[in-house]
Amino acid sequence: MANPSSVPFVDLSLQHAPLRAELMAAMAAVADGGDYILGNSVVQFERAFAAACGVPFGVGVGSGTDALTLGLRACGIGPGDQVILPVNTFVATLIGVLQVGATPVFVDCELDTGLMDIAAAERAMNRLTRAVIPVHLYGQMVSPKALHALAEAHGVTIFEDAAQAHGAERDGIKAGSVGLASAFSFYPSKNLGAMGDGGMVVTQQEVVAQTVRSLRNYGSTRKYYHTDPGGTNSRLDTLQAAVLNIKLACLADWNCDRNRLAKLYDDALKPLAAQGLIPMTNHSGSGHVYHLYVIRLTRDCAIDRTRLQQELAVAEIQSGIHYPVPCHLQPAFHHLGYQPGDFPIAEQLSQEILSLPIYPGMTEGHLEYVVKTLMGLVQACPVLT
Ligand SMILES: *Cc1c(COP(=O)(O)O)cnc(C)c1O
Repeated sequence: MANPSSVPFVDLSLQHAPLRAELMAAMAAVADGGDYILGNSVVQFERAFAAACGVPFGVGVGSGTDALTLGLRACGIGPGDQVILPVNTFVATLIGVLQVGATPVFVDCELDTGLMDIAAAERAMNRLTRAVIPVHLYGQMVSPKALHALAEAHGVTIFEDAAQAHGAERDGIKAGSVGLASAFSFYPSKNLGAMGDGGMVVTQQEVVAQTVRSLRNYGSTRKYYHTDPGGTNSRLDTLQAAVLNIKLACLADWNCDRNRLAKLYDDALKPLAAQGLIPMTNHSGSGHVYHLYVIRLTRDCAIDRTRLQQELAVAEIQSGIHYPVPCHLQPAFHHLGYQPGDFPIAEQLSQEILSLPIYPGMTEGHLEYVVKTLMGLVQACPVLT
């Protein structure tokens, strides 16, 4: 095949092109039907997505952030409650905790996966701890067994942030089915993405689902009768649900493709371990859905990350950093009282990580071009002694 000379970070057009006619027809049907708010497509998608997660209830909301907020609130988490969450996550996890008025308690992560350190979570617990939010970061689940053990030993609620883990599995257990409830996002670039914002709370408990249904709709279950004080307007759009119904049928294949591409990267990058370039570890085999493919440029790596990113950009290869500043060091949350040095592993990772392009439909030619370019850059720099 032709030598690809430019690789985007993600390419959604590859997902949408084969579905174009179907997507357009579904959107036209919504436009013609006039059933714009909480229409039939929403109900249909809620059932289908919850079933795909292996849980009985799903409630569509406006975004992943709202799924966190309304989901936590429906689980009874609020002022006076401590909620444990990993410090290396997208800031929305923290925003959800703060929006319900609970107290966030950060914990560090594992160096090889970036996932929440369960032992650190256990150490952070006290009698005010009400919930733990494992973030299934980069598409890999935090160990369900370890989470179940934690919940049983300490009587805390597990609330999953599964915004990067649609369809992920570990030890035969699906993302979204571990805790009392879970938050998903359908932001366009997620493994299952809408053509705009969207989110969902999936849950094992009917009462949690009913409460989210009320909270997303002004705190009412019956028009003009308001029973839940934490209510707002945050519903999954009917148009987005129509799109998501069609895309859901492709999710398993897309995830399979991501997993296959990641394995190609893993194998091809092995020789660079000696130069200090190390991919994050996969502990869940084909259950890792690789929302992101993340490598670490350790201290042994002669080329500095900023330079490497610049050189990749020159070669027209887009890369990213997820995330460059851990939550506890974000200026907006200075008032929480954390300091540099509080979470050494997450801080180290924030300096070392780099996310490479990965998306369903990415060709092997594109992947080889990324690998070859990386090899040239990493090996061209002499190892400093
Ligand atoms: C994307 C994301 C969210 C937020 O979802 P939005 O739909 O953008 O509000 C929350 N947590 C994690 C880990 C995410 O990646």
